[in-house]
Amino acid sequence: MRVIPINDAAIEETAIEEAAEILRRGGLVAFPTETVYGLGANALDASAVARIFAAKGRPSYNPLIVHVPNEAAARELVSDWPESASRLARAFWPGPLTLVLPKQPAIPDIVTAGLDSVALRVPAHPVALALLRATRLPLAAPSANRSMALSPTTAQHVARSLGDRVELILDAGPTTVGIESTVVDLRGPQPSILRPGLLGAREIEPVVGTLATPNETTGDAARPAPGMLDRHYAPRAQLRLFAASEAASIAREGAALVARGARVAALVLEASASAPVEVVQMPADPARYAQRLYATLHDLDESGFNVVLVERVPDGDAWAGVRDRLERASRP
Ligand code: AMP
Ligand code: MG
Repeated sequence: MRVIPINDAAIEETAIEEAAEILRRGGLVAFPTETVYGLGANALDASAVARIFAAKGRPSYNPLIVHVPNEAAARELVSDWPESASRLARAFWPGPLTLVLPKQPAIPDIVTAGLDSVALRVPAHPVALALLRATRLPLAAPSANRSMALSPTTAQHVARSLGDRVELILDAGPTTVGIESTVVDLRGPQPSILRPGLLGAREIEPVVGTLATPNETTGDAARPAPGMLDRHYAPRAQLRLFAASEAASIAREGAALVARGARVAALVLEASASAPVEVVQMPADPARYAQRLYATLHDLDESGFNVVLVERVPDGDAWAGVRDRLERASRP
């Protein structure tokens, strides 16, 4: 595995060309996007995509997001491009929004876990876009980490999680959004959010009208979105959630755990925890909280904390992405 630093303000063509060459011959390259680092492969090459699943240890039922450089490239990969897709693409691409649409047969089944739909996104990162233009290929790219683990927001996180399972990492520093994209299902008559992210109903509804709850549109009651039922995005440390009103319980739990020899950290918004735990004050703004969340959990893991007590974030749309990641990370 090699790491090439790349300045996203003055992108060096040689680094992009080297990465593109690896991708063209079916290899894996980790690259920065605005959300998290992605583990990319040629989305039209089934054996290249199989390498993503092997490198991540990802179950084959969990489909991948395909990255494209622009709306025109997205249209080529779908069998239907509804008006809602045009509107959302114009409003939010490039950006942290993934659209699920009926796929063209050119996309191998392994990419979509056998589904007849594909998830597409134009990432808002100059390095990702340069790579997409250089390869002239759609790139399947899930987060560049082992399956079930925390997503990477720096090249160092990628290197630690994947090691030599990835050939090259393009290092453009920490990502800005910090959590994975919002996934919107456009297969039914009414769009729905399959996975919350930085963009929420408040941003999306003015563009396409009222959103449905997932099962109404797909009729897929048992499975709102493939791969979404697992514990996911989790640190090695055990993560436990506490209501904002339970600051005293955080302190009490923390003290009890420390007395039993655990190393305990607390992520707080307002609570002024004074227990013998490492207190991490998180930003009160949801976008800034999201940007810091995974990096903070990676740091705590690296420092050997066993338990992270987390003050729940507020209700409401703006916090939906962060809330979802915290819930998932706290599942046993
Ligand atoms: P990631 O792990 O960040 O690559 O995100 C992939 C997620 O996107 C999956 O877990 C699904 O929730 C969603 N997704 C990808 N492809 C599809 C698809 N064809 N239909 C529905 N959801 C999808
Ligand atoms: Mg992932």
